[in-house]
This record gives sequence, C-alpha cells and structure tokens, in this order.
Amino acid sequence: MFQFSHSWPYERMMNDIYFQECPFCGASSVLLPIKKEAFENAKGGVKTFVIMPCCHEKLDILQIDDDYIWSNEPLRK
Ligand SMILES: [Zn+2]
Repeated sequence: MFQFSHSWPYERMMNDIYFQECPFCGASSVLLPIKKEAFENAKGGVKTFVIMPCCHEKLDILQIDDDYIWSNEPLRK
C-alpha cells in the first residue's frame, strides 16, 4: 500500500496546483505544470508525472487525494 513517506502535500488555488515546498530542491511556492484533466484523472488513480519547473526533477504520481500527491518513490526522509 501507499506509504506516508511517498506523499507530499499540495495546495490548490482555483485550477492551480502548488507545492509550498519542492520535495527535491526545496524551492518555495512551486506551481505544478499539470493539466486539470491529468489532475482529475490522478484522483481516480491514473498515473501521471510532472517535471518540476524549479529543478527539472521528474515526479511520478500514482494518485492524488484531497491533500496529498502520492508517488512511487519516497519524497520525505
Ligand atoms: Zn525543485
């Protein structure tokens, strides 16, 4: 099952999805380049990914819930 270490909290403002802090480089208030459709699909468990605009790290997304993005790799120590 999903582990909490593989989750990262996001903020939603209108149709924009933000990370308060990038899990890879620590940049603040990063706007995720994810389409609304991909975001909604991910809430249904459809995998997607984003390339972080701050550090170009690839974030694989397995699922998104109301508070967290769940990845297939640990995002927190
Ligand atoms: Zn980053």
